[in-house]
Formats: sequence, C-alpha cells, structure tokens
Amino acid sequence: MTPASDPKSIDTLPAGATGLLTIDLDTIVANWRKLSSQAIPADCAAVVKADAYGCGITQVSRALAKAGCRTFFVATLDEARAVREVTPTSTIYVLNGFFPGSGDQYAKFDCRPVLGDAVELAEWDAFRTTSGWEGLAAVHVDTGMNRLGFRIADAQALEARIKGGKHGFALVMSHLVNAEMLGDSVNGRQVAAFREIASLFSGVPASLANSSGIFLGSQFHFDLVRPGAALYGVNPTPEADTPMQPVVDLKARVAQVRTIEKGETVGYGGTWTARQQTRLAVISAGYADGYFRAAGGIDNLRSAEVIAAGQRCPVAGRISMDLLAIDITALPPGAIRRGGMVTLIGDGITVDELGRHFDTIGYEVLTSLGRRYVRAYKGGA
Ligand SMILES: *Cc1c(COP(=O)(O)O)cnc(C)c1O
Repeated sequence: MTPASDPKSIDTLPAGATGLLTIDLDTIVANWRKLSSQAIPADCAAVVKADAYGCGITQVSRALAKAGCRTFFVATLDEARAVREVTPTSTIYVLNGFFPGSGDQYAKFDCRPVLGDAVELAEWDAFRTTSGWEGLAAVHVDTGMNRLGFRIADAQALEARIKGGKHGFALVMSHLVNAEMLGDSVNGRQVAAFREIASLFSGVPASLANSSGIFLGSQFHFDLVRPGAALYGVNPTPEADTPMQPVVDLKARVAQVRTIEKGETVGYGGTWTARQQTRLAVISAGYADGYFRAAGGIDNLRSAEVIAAGQRCPVAGRISMDLLAIDITALPPGAIRRGGMVTLIGDGITVDELGRHFDTIGYEVLTSLGRRYVRAYKGGA
C-alpha cells in the first residue's frame, strides 16, 4: 500500500509493482453530494465501514468531512478510532453495537453505539452511570431483517423512557431487507412499521434508508439517510442504469505475452481450449488480489473481460492465485507488451459488472480489492 507519487502516471510506478489501484476522492464527494441533494430535507451521513468499502477509511472520511458530511457510520470501534483521528468533531455511530466492556472505548473515541437490544442498553446505561460519561446512542429497531436491533415490542416498551426525557437517544434507526428491489412489498411493510416506532421516539431523529433506500422515495428518507455502497460507485438501482459515478480504477501488469496452438488448453484444470492459434497476455493479478476465481474463462461460457489496448478481451482459463490469462488474439500484434498495463476495473468495466462475473455483488468486489496493488488517491484536497 505504497502511495504512488503521481496517481495519473503508470510510468512512476515502481518497476516491481503488480498493479495500480486509483481511488477518486472527488468522485466519492460528488456521489455524496448527489445523494445528499436527492435526500433533502433529510441529512446525509456516510457509511465508511470495512475500510470505506475497501477505498480507505482515512482518506474517504477526511474528504467527506471536508465536503460537509457530519455523520459517519462504521461497524467497529477500530473503525471509529480511524474516523475520529481525521474528523475531530463528527458524529460517529458504531453499527455492530456495544460489546461487553467496551464503554471506555466509546468514551475515548467519543462515538455512539447503535444499541440492538435491552441487554446492550442496560450495559450502556450502567457504564454511563459508573463512569459519568454522557455520550449518546442510537436505538436500532428490527423491522424485518432479523439481524441486529430491538424487536418491535421491546422498542415500544422504551416509550416511557422517551417521555421521561434525558433518555440519551440521539437516533432511532432500522435497516431495509430488499431496498434495491423497487417493487418489493417488504419495503412498504418496513417503512410503515418504522414510521410507527419513530413516532414513539418523539424528538429523536430517525433513519431508515441505505443507498438503495434513498431511491425508493421521500417517505423512506426520515431525518437522516445512510448511504455506503453508492458513494463508492455501486449502482443503488440495479434494475436501472446507475445514477452514480465510478470511483475505482484498477490496472494490472502484463507479466508475459505468449502464443499457443489450436487445441492447447490454458490454466488449472485445462478448462479453456484454444480454437485457433491464440495470443495470450498473462496478467499479474489473481484471486489473492480479489479477482475472484468464479470469473475464470471456461469453454463456451461468457467470461469476465479485461481491457487491453482499449479493447475488451476475455479471460481465458481459470483464475490462479497470483495470475490470470486473457485472450488478446483480436488485438494487433505488439499492441500488448510485457511490463505494460491492462484495465481490470474502469473504462466501462464497473464493480457491478465484475460482481456478476464473480457470482457476487459490487460491495464484495470493493471490499475484496487486493492489498498488493499500489494505491493512489485522486483529489480530496
Ligand atoms: C452497511 C449499512 C448501511 C449502508 O448500506 P449500503 O447498502 O452500502 O448503502 C446502512 N445501514 C446499515 C445498518 C448498514 O449495515
């Protein structure tokens, strides 16, 4: 994870670098602004868990705070510490909640747990009483996910505490099961259940929508929206064209160019057979770099593609741990040379497209981005 001195130039890369992963902070900010304007009059937070979906929690949080983002959601206390280091005055919520004995850390990083049941709430109360710390918390209410969160009846039982004032709750929230499916009836059921609960938490801001939830309509926005994936260029409306801009560009090194004869196979298991004399470029990236093995080229199946010399070229044969091969027969001879670079993500290849080839979603493509690439950041100043 050495920073490249000039993010735009592949020529400044160390000779031994296998690839260059460029993250465009200005585009993350532009995506955040777009989501913010979509959500007005609700406030727009940023979810930066899992190292900001693989994009770098420090760089992303700093850039978003500079752009005016005031509220951050993380999954863990380590992540809260990272955000606090670069955003001294932001509000930070920790989604995975209050682990036993974690109170000191909450006080130290001045962050807020997202409380998920009465036991957690009692431990948080006890910590506040014994320490005298007056930090606030969010209450997470489960409206159908059955993951974290108070069951609805247990949340309703908090009404007396709310009415009594000095309850310590700064946010009531829930999470959507199927927000990316516009027509799914579970969305309507969840928003109705959440509206009812939120009305019991009088004076407490409410939050329901993740990235996709923002595009379900203003009745899903409440007081605060919580986009993650869309900030990083994942399409929040997979049934339609993406409203977001791509953030990540990934180039990888050509380790070798070789020619094989008709009938020869490529890679482990011999799953791909040359139908003619074939030129291959062997690329220095593999499943250990987050290029999933599921994307391998198998005879007669549509494989993932890589952009070489401006053209899409299919992956040939299985993905190895550190290498993959592409068929460059269609390119003019000499167009691709050893030591050159090809594009794995970018120039029209989106994380959503790769997710389909990886049998997963753009989220997992991002959070799996390899640690062996040189990382460079654009913008954010
Ligand atoms: C991860 C997460 C989000 C962000 O979801 P995206 O789909 O990435 O926008 C919001 N809320 C909760 C509770 C989450 O766990």
